[in-house]
Amino acid sequence: MDKNKLKEYQNKRDFSKSSEPSGAKTKKKKYKDIFVIQKHDASNLHYDLRLEINGVLKSWAIPKGPSLDPSEKRLAVLTEDHPLDYASFEGKIPEDEYGGGTVIVWDQGRYVNQGDTSMEDAFENGTIEFELKGEKLKGAFVLVKTKNKNWLLIKKKDKGADKRRKPLKTEPKSVLSNKTIEDINKEMN
Ligand code: MN
Repeated sequence: MDKNKLKEYQNKRDFSKSSEPSGAKTKKKKYKDIFVIQKHDASNLHYDLRLEINGVLKSWAIPKGPSLDPSEKRLAVLTEDHPLDYASFEGKIPEDEYGGGTVIVWDQGRYVNQGDTSMEDAFENGTIEFELKGEKLKGAFVLVKTKNKNWLLIKKKDKGADKRRKPLKTEPKSVLSNKTIEDINKEMN
């Protein structure tokens, strides 16, 4: 892995105070073509979509979270690359630290590149088409860059598309621990 890619991530955090992974050691193979969506109850509740691209987790913060309705475009703000082992991070980041708040792994699985180029080229070109094979989210999505760090996440029309299904509301638990954000907050208090 290119260590420089994680500099911004590492500079923002104090690993003596936060239990987040530093990214120093990771088994790369295990994380090939994975995605994760973490629910993050920070100063503003949001969902972080992360896609493994070239040994790091490319990351977007989605204020409203993903939608299964192809007519809805969800703002996805590009954030710093995260280390691969962040994919299984859950817990509470101290309030006065960067990203302070509670994190759960809301969904995870593999993705399949649906574009004509590599994922890295798709990222550079500003249009990433991929199919998610998650526990909650399945089917094709596209991420389109609009301006600067702003992208849009849109569900494509396929059998995973569903206007009525609202997994953010009906399936709030972690796919790793089966806990909600509220469960973790209670444990930590
Ligand atoms: Mn976040």
